Amino acid sequence: MSSVNSGNGGHTANGGISFWYADDGIPDGREPLAGDASADVVIVGGGYTGLWTAYYLKKAAPFLRITVLEQKFCGYGASGRNGGWLYNGIAGRDRYARLHGHEAAVRLQQAMNETVTEVVDTARAESIDADIHHGGVLEVAYTPAQLARLKAFHEAELTYGEKDRTLHGARETAERIRVAGAVGSTWTPHGARLHPVKLVKGLARAVEALGVTIHESTPVTEIKPKHAITPYGTVRAPYVLRCTEGFTASLKGQRRTWLPMNSSMIATEPLSAEQWESIGWAGRETLGDMAHAYMYAQRTADDRIALGGRGYPYRYGSKTDNDGRTQPQTIEALTAILHRFFPQLAGVRVDHAWSGVLGVPRDWCATVTLDRSTGLGWAGGYVGSGVATANLAARTLRDLVQQDSGQAGPTELTTLPWVNHKVRKWEPEPFRWLGVHGMYATYYAADRRELTTNTGDSSRLAKIADRVAGRH
Ligand SMILES: Cc1cc2nc3c(=O)[nH]c(=O)nc-3n(C[C@H](O)[C@H](O)[C@H](O)COP(=O)(O)OP(=O)(O)OC[C@H]3O[C@@H](n4cnc5c(N)ncnc54)[C@H](O)[C@@H]3O)c2cc1C
Repeated sequence: MSSVNSGNGGHTANGGISFWYADDGIPDGREPLAGDASADVVIVGGGYTGLWTAYYLKKAAPFLRITVLEQKFCGYGASGRNGGWLYNGIAGRDRYARLHGHEAAVRLQQAMNETVTEVVDTARAESIDADIHHGGVLEVAYTPAQLARLKAFHEAELTYGEKDRTLHGARETAERIRVAGAVGSTWTPHGARLHPVKLVKGLARAVEALGVTIHESTPVTEIKPKHAITPYGTVRAPYVLRCTEGFTASLKGQRRTWLPMNSSMIATEPLSAEQWESIGWAGRETLGDMAHAYMYAQRTADDRIALGGRGYPYRYGSKTDNDGRTQPQTIEALTAILHRFFPQLAGVRVDHAWSGVLGVPRDWCATVTLDRSTGLGWAGGYVGSGVATANLAARTLRDLVQQDSGQAGPTELTTLPWVNHKVRKWEPEPFRWLGVHGMYATYYAADRRELTTNTGDSSRLAKIADRVAGRH
């Protein structure tokens, strides 16, 4: 882990996987695979998707021999680095509405709303203390263009059956959180704040206690039907489930499947009671905005602000970061967002900065798939909304495997519109790099323009970037 001068008389730790690990400790490693083995189901990747899948499958069919293979340690990826927004957003819902009809997308949204409660309840039932606070999600606007988008977003969410969502003006917003210049906000109860690492560690423990085998320090180099191949041996199983999200490109034959998009975060020092007095945020809602290159934040259990955003969006050739280290410019950009939101925190120390990768499919739609002809399955492409979605994906993979193996019939989950969705691959380099960097340069320019011109229209630039990127 390196550190940079934070400019406020302190140093900012950079990398070390994430602040959450600095806070809760890097786990002792589990034993790697010792040689060739067999199982009924092998799961590649020990993040939320892989671990929840192991959890629900083993609960449903305790006789199944399930093996999880993890390249480093469980929670090494985005599941140990994220913003801790457990919320009901799912990537691709609007496209699924166009492809399968509005009612199908409403069912998907309903399933996501229920997923937030499912995670909260299951964590409690398994005695996983992940600092969960069920305070909902507050998204704010601080320019006229953002306000127009916020209102349109709010209305759209109502059409997807969100009965409890509320819209707030400037004064009501300030009563919750005093974000400088905020002119409105929308709040949904379908969200909770959590400590990502405490959740993933607790989940790994729960899965092991059920009798699932987890091998760490075991990178899978290739997945073939009925085979997960590693340098230490091959695990043979009728079902091989790929749960590698942002790291998928490193598997043989998968380079252009999902693009590893960066997201970066900073965590401040713990704030004083007076500082919290000036901010509000007593409800500990997760906090976001309506910028094209949006930010996301939480008030942590130990009273810091952890805040994230895109930063440097994508590394050439689908590379991933070095144990979470992020660029100094990204730390500066995120710190500037913190100061724009809360100018009174200009002197506050930034204790930690880090980054991670999330998986982006070519059409920006999350998917869960089981190919019945090969027994290969996968879930991911959550585009940054994976903390809750991974749980819904896992329960759906469980149902698909049970259906395929004749243990159960189709369920409500196996008929959701994101199941078995197909999408084309990303373009080869340099087009991938140029496309993503072009899109984010345009978003940043659009956000700057909206801040300075006071226009109520969303920047046309951003709309063009969305269309070119295949986002809408
Ligand atoms: C900085 C950041 C902030 C985020 N904030 C939020 C948020 O607040 N809310 C939200 O909903 N989503 C957020 N996300 C997204 C969310 O964290 C992810 O979508 C989710 O954690 C994905 O879980 P996963 O298990 O599918 O993937 P991961 O957690 O990435 O797990 C994949 C695992 O597979 C392992 N692996 C990879 N390749 C191999 C291989 N070849 N062999 C064996 N093992 C392998 C990796 O080491 C890793 O442990 C954020 C993401 C990032 C990076």
